[in-house]
Amino acid sequence: MARVALVTGGTRGIGAAICVALKEAGYTVAANFAGNEEAAAKFTEETGIKTYKWSVADYDACVAGIAKVEEELGPIDVLVNNAGITRDSMFHRMTREQWQEVIDTNLSGVFNMTHPVWPGMRERKFGRVVTISSINGQKGQAGQANYSAAKAGDLGFTKALAQEGARAGITVNAICPGYIGTDMVMAVPEKVRDAIISQIPVGRLGEPEEIARCVVFLASDDAGFITGSTITANGGQFFV
Ligand code: NDP
Repeated sequence: MARVALVTGGTRGIGAAICVALKEAGYTVAANFAGNEEAAAKFTEETGIKTYKWSVADYDACVAGIAKVEEELGPIDVLVNNAGITRDSMFHRMTREQWQEVIDTNLSGVFNMTHPVWPGMRERKFGRVVTISSINGQKGQAGQANYSAAKAGDLGFTKALAQEGARAGITVNAICPGYIGTDMVMAVPEKVRDAIISQIPVGRLGEPEEIARCVVFLASDDAGFITGSTITANGGQFFV
């Protein structure tokens, strides 16, 4: 039986590339998304991957959504916490809403998704949890106090949970992408984007598929001894 993988924010950008790469690697894949029905429908049409709509920021919706995926596809072996948003602002102008929305999605969303799948993974003595953090969780970024805090929190979560899951055959790892050419980065003004690219030693944005290949590796049996780790994939922009 093929292993089942659930990818949050799986219908666009990095998440979509992760879904496709996992499908090609032989997994049965479910792609969660938040609200962009049109992108989700197009994604299924192109890939044949089933999509499931709920917000990772809502714990009860995650419990119900995961139950539906498991009923239709089987127990979740691989969880990829990829959904994420930005609400950028310099701190002196940042509203409580901008802070809270990013924490709710990018940090609490990881709890909300991992908590319901964890007991099943423990019982079955196998699991893979991969969380997409960010270079800006490692180094901090002006204008992103909310995002940097959430993404750094994801790394702490990963290291703590790796210790709890180890004896149960569950690995918990993170990936910190640098700047990748998705909607999130293309929404940044072109001038700012050019300035970002000038700081990337390889001289270009990363491609979603380059992050997807890291996920496929961490999900594989070959990566069974790797847990609590962070793969840094940023074109040489920042060294931990
Ligand atoms: P995109 O904005 O291109 O896509 C985001 C995806 O997340 C969409 O599928 C979206 O669904 C979904 N999503 C957003 N909010 C929620 C929610 N509350 N519940 C469920 N799904 C949600 O993002 P990227 O592909 O660029 O980023 C993916 C991840 O990688 C994020 O965690 C991001 O922080 C991280 N990252 C990205 C980098 C980059 O340069 N792009 C760099 C470093 C990290 P919908 O289509 O319905 O809106």
